[in-house]
Amino acid sequence: MSMMTDEDLARLAPAESSLFASPIPVQSVSSDEFMPAPQTERQREFEARVKAIGSELAEHQGLSRRAFFKTSAGMAAAFVAMNDTFGPLYMVSRAEAATPEMANARAAALKGQFIMDMHTHFLRDDTRLEGFVRSREAVGKAGWNPALVGKPQTLEDLKFANYFKEIYLDSDTKVALISGSGSEDPRDWFLTNEMKADARTNVNKQSGTKRMFSHAIFMPGMPGWLEKVDRDLEMLKPDSFKGYTVGDNTNKHLARHPWHLDDEKLMYPFYEKLVKASKSNPSLANVCVHKGLFPPSTTRQFPDLVKYADVRDVGKAAKDWPQLNFVIYHSGFRFTGGAQNTGWEQFEKTGRIDWVTDLAEIPAKYGVNNVYGDLGQIFAQSTVAEPRLCAAMLGQLVNGLGADRIVWGTDAVWTGAPQWQIEALRRLEIPEEMQKRYGFKPLGAPDGPVKNAIFAENSARLYRFTQGMRAGLENDIVARAKRIYDEQGDGRTNLAYGYVNPGA
Ligand SMILES: [Zn+2]
Repeated sequence: MSMMTDEDLARLAPAESSLFASPIPVQSVSSDEFMPAPQTERQREFEARVKAIGSELAEHQGLSRRAFFKTSAGMAAAFVAMNDTFGPLYMVSRAEAATPEMANARAAALKGQFIMDMHTHFLRDDTRLEGFVRSREAVGKAGWNPALVGKPQTLEDLKFANYFKEIYLDSDTKVALISGSGSEDPRDWFLTNEMKADARTNVNKQSGTKRMFSHAIFMPGMPGWLEKVDRDLEMLKPDSFKGYTVGDNTNKHLARHPWHLDDEKLMYPFYEKLVKASKSNPSLANVCVHKGLFPPSTTRQFPDLVKYADVRDVGKAAKDWPQLNFVIYHSGFRFTGGAQNTGWEQFEKTGRIDWVTDLAEIPAKYGVNNVYGDLGQIFAQSTVAEPRLCAAMLGQLVNGLGADRIVWGTDAVWTGAPQWQIEALRRLEIPEEMQKRYGFKPLGAPDGPVKNAIFAENSARLYRFTQGMRAGLENDIVARAKRIYDEQGDGRTNLAYGYVNPGA
């Protein structure tokens, strides 16, 4: 947000008002970290197709299109439209979209799938919000959305209550980790480390189970940062730490403390602390690091930060610290917010994708097995814009890191409830022709070994989520609430938050 100029803002409209409620967003949605692109030709084609198939099938079933899209058949219809637009990438049939019983049976069979989403966000109630409110007011002033003009704006949809609903009720997610992002400006932390710890305490206290994990953000080079790590370890007991190598991702213009993972002087004392702390809590051996999301437009604006955004520093750190696990958020995927086509072109031309390919090569290059890829914005960004790119990235990560080193994360609720992303992975298959050409392995069934590993088994291992803990989720208060919600609720909201570019 802060990095967007008034000009940028004037071109934006809030996603909720300009998008129709498709089960899969019809345009790239900004997670506030980049300037989104206008709809591409393919996305326009997808929008037309999903509207057409939605209207047709909704009428057959005596529903409004909006109501139809909240059903399982409606979700299936959206994937049919994806295949018609981008080629056969998703396992779905027209029959499923046209037959509610069939779609419901499939959804019911998968509903219990164990899913740990270790990359989620909501925003604090106070100062950070003001910036968002100002942005939305600017959008209103610019006249893009008449509903915003002269109307006080709030972002309730990005706050806890709606977060809880979208993660635990609107999606099949069973366990989530609340993450965050720090800033040089203390007001601009998404959530303070205390707020993240409190959210975890509250949710788990109510559920009586372990429904939520929590990050603490570390900011290397900031005055007193290591003492803060000590304090957080002692007072907040985070499940793991997360850092941003570009220093300040929210306010990149303020970034004065970028860092590298393999900076021995700066970072190794921190790793030492984690190794020690992991003796009493093994999940603290997981070092979570934001990488990527640095498209050409951002690179032009912040050329000095790009060497911190890529993954050049991961290999040596991983080799020097075999006791730790380096979980690279977004798997270093660079091409967000409208640059997805650049990513696809790069792949077609060179067989590489910045910096996912570089990440995937680290285990072989450095002889390490402690590097993990979080999927983060990968599905949110590439499903919507160029699903073949998504298939290629999954193929490379499985080959390079291994299916047992890829972990599920969605960056929800930036792009609404994560169910569409869950469905995208369940249904995604690398087309046979791509498998042959690049030596990719098939991803297999929605609940087959590869996808189950990605959805939860790998994180369960990293965070010591035992079978006993898992069994406890089946009938806790959240499970009961979801059963009632499914029976009586209004269904998914299908709203994508953030900003889209209406293509003025
Ligand atoms: Zn994130």
